[in-house]
Amino acid sequence: MILIRHLYIGVDDTDSPDGMCTTYLASQIINRFAESGIELIGYPRLIRLNPFARHKTRGNGGVALEILNDSKASIAKKIVLEEVEKLSMFDCDNTNPGVIFYEGEITPEMEDYAFRAIHEFITIEEAEEFGKSVGCEIHKFKKGRGIIGAIASISLPLDDCTYELLAYRAPENFGTERKIDHDSVYEMDEKTFPDTFENIDYSEGYIAIEPKTPCPVLYGIRSNVPEVLKEARDIVKVGEPIDDWCIFKTNQHTDMHIQNASKISDMKQFGCYCVCGEVKNKPTIIDGGHMFFYITDESGEIECGAYEPTKTFRKTVSYLRPGDVIRVYGGIGEQNTFNVEKFQVIRLNDVEYKNPMCECGKRMTSAGKNKGFKCKKCGNRIESNEKIPVGVERDLENGRFYETPVSARRHLSKPLCRMDLTC
Ligand code: ATP
Repeated sequence: MILIRHLYIGVDDTDSPDGMCTTYLASQIINRFAESGIELIGYPRLIRLNPFARHKTRGNGGVALEILNDSKASIAKKIVLEEVEKLSMFDCDNTNPGVIFYEGEITPEMEDYAFRAIHEFITIEEAEEFGKSVGCEIHKFKKGRGIIGAIASISLPLDDCTYELLAYRAPENFGTERKIDHDSVYEMDEKTFPDTFENIDYSEGYIAIEPKTPCPVLYGIRSNVPEVLKEARDIVKVGEPIDDWCIFKTNQHTDMHIQNASKISDMKQFGCYCVCGEVKNKPTIIDGGHMFFYITDESGEIECGAYEPTKTFRKTVSYLRPGDVIRVYGGIGEQNTFNVEKFQVIRLNDVEYKNPMCECGKRMTSAGKNKGFKCKKCGNRIESNEKIPVGVERDLENGRFYETPVSARRHLSKPLCRMDLTC
């Protein structure tokens, strides 16, 4: 029996803030594959990597394709390299495409590499050395930084995954205002949520399927199951031609970037974690609209931030009070502040200590240090210095998760509608 192995193709770093999108390039490659009778195995993949990678343009996404490694493999490689040459934004200093071809099975060490590309920084040299050691055929354009993400995109196991249907614009419309009937997006959301999600930010009236950059994407609809995406696409009305569309299997909204930290001091800058801590101070808002507070545990403390773009989330954060125990999810950024994506209330501090009430119904005041309390109304005095515990009405609930709105969500962040809240 002849065993025909698979050919994995990884591509990354072809776009710039002025245009292009590596998924668009992938869809062009897939079209040319079809013309040559080359079929994909499974869905093309869109893999989001370290949200803090320094050279990302937007979402730090690489793509991967899988085909049979048969007599057409050499045609496939030629097509991929031609399309990367043709469509990459080479004029941009920060665009350094990388292409990887890999024949064979994905090994556990490749899977580990992929998780490292989500959790840590990897240098081009490190990626090249690793790629060579596992037998990748490596193609670097300019500095070739894209090989870092390209190797990770073919290697990442997708035990949890989502899907995204991307509709592409006709090239003559690139960079112009998108013509999407927003009412139809509301209708699509109503009919297909929660199978599709992240379509609209209702708190901001923001249409999240519509990119705000001059890239070739007209819209992207995200889902848990691929089957619903064509129905969703048919509901969304647009006033311009859809040149092409493609469904990608992705690691978006899986929380794969989040690592469990057992204590605050275990976390490092530019890492993404979930960690438990006690709220130390009342969250306060500063100029620019960012809100900050500290959490502490026996190992140390860290400043947590709900930044201005998280909009209504800041209101929720403002309900926290010292003594609350919460688990925060997010990443430690440039300023060494933990950028909160969501939090779970573990234990609310719903008690405060007040001066005792006088028999006459008035709250007593201090009679001086260690001199008990006195009533200003009737002159009554008590000797005890002990304050009385009183229940506090809270706007948060024990056990519940609270998250940033759709408009401020990271590609990798798992929204609550995807979380199994029973476990
Ligand atoms: P998108 O196409 O979604 O807009 P992007 O444009 O933000 O993504 P890329 O163009 O892919 O991002 O650029 C990100 C660069 O960072 C790529 O060269 C990629 O190889 C590299 N990269 C990815 N992960 C890491 C990592 N963990 N460490 C260092 N570099 C990384």
